[in-house]
Amino acid sequence: MLIFDAHLDLAMNALEWNRNLVLPVDDIRNTEVGMNDKPDRGKNTVSLDAMRKGNIGICVATQIARYVKNTNPLPGWNSPQQAWAQTQGQLAWYRAMEQLGEMTQISNLTELNHHLELWDSNSDPKKPIGFILSLEGADSLFTLGHLEMAYEQGLRAVGPAHYGPGTYAFGTNSTGSIGERGRELLLEMARLNIILDVTHLCDQSFWETMKVYNGPVWASHNNCRALVNHNRQFSDEQIKELISRKAVIGVALDAWMMVPNWERGQSSPESMGVTLHTIIDHIDHICQLSGNSLHVGIGTDLDGGFGKEQCPGDVDTIADLQNIPQLLANRGYSQEDIENIMNKNFIGFLQETWKDS
Ligand SMILES: [Zn+2]
Repeated sequence: MLIFDAHLDLAMNALEWNRNLVLPVDDIRNTEVGMNDKPDRGKNTVSLDAMRKGNIGICVATQIARYVKNTNPLPGWNSPQQAWAQTQGQLAWYRAMEQLGEMTQISNLTELNHHLELWDSNSDPKKPIGFILSLEGADSLFTLGHLEMAYEQGLRAVGPAHYGPGTYAFGTNSTGSIGERGRELLLEMARLNIILDVTHLCDQSFWETMKVYNGPVWASHNNCRALVNHNRQFSDEQIKELISRKAVIGVALDAWMMVPNWERGQSSPESMGVTLHTIIDHIDHICQLSGNSLHVGIGTDLDGGFGKEQCPGDVDTIADLQNIPQLLANRGYSQEDIENIMNKNFIGFLQETWKDS
């Protein structure tokens, strides 16, 4: 079954982790033997090769670069201009992957439908992975003109904030208003029909955003606060609001967001019993709130700063996502429900969003 993954930091892995994603996952691990600059060295799960093996033919791929003021302890760039340049370097990597035939950018309905036909019909084992470009944290857009420039480069979704206070909104583990700049960004995003990714917005910024923004909304990688109580997760009220806005929520495979009481660097998938089975609970929770299977999808965030040490124990590579359909079937989901969750909800969302473009 075709899988749509709504959140992968592919260019970040290529440029900041120095991973050659053209290689099989094992070969990338071999290049990291003996490295300990990051906790997930040698434990990566994603490569373009593994995506193809797992029939993950389409994804939302990020540009990501935070600007930090010197009072902010989070890692990041010391000016928005440096952050912009970093996102442009990431774009250059995606372009290079296109030139190799490894990836293909999808930015409108025609390209989307053409790509789906290719993956439906073509038995060529080297099909390009389709990607929709998304910006995770908008600090790098140092003028609204940069949003339009990015749109022309194919940017189709924006998450205004990531971790901590941002230029346009407050993100995870912080709290505050979107302010005038956030409001202006949202109005410009609506004018350009850019998808608002509400992932990482703090509660206050989330609810303010819901009042201001009238364009398309999704949550690319978010789990349920009812199951794991943390501000990074959505409350039932937030999920209901998203359902009323026809959003799709992608569930994430970051272990600390899947089970309560995970301690980073201490807990292991084995000690906490985290498997792909665990994510079915989050999927099911969203389906119970909506009364159908139409508002949830997969947004793994695999290799989003963590690897095998912090993802489901039965995921060796991203290709193992192909085990999710059977787990859903075991839980009583019909074939139609399973297809909705694995690809149709996000694809249908894009087809609806782009129908007039
Ligand atoms: Zn994220």
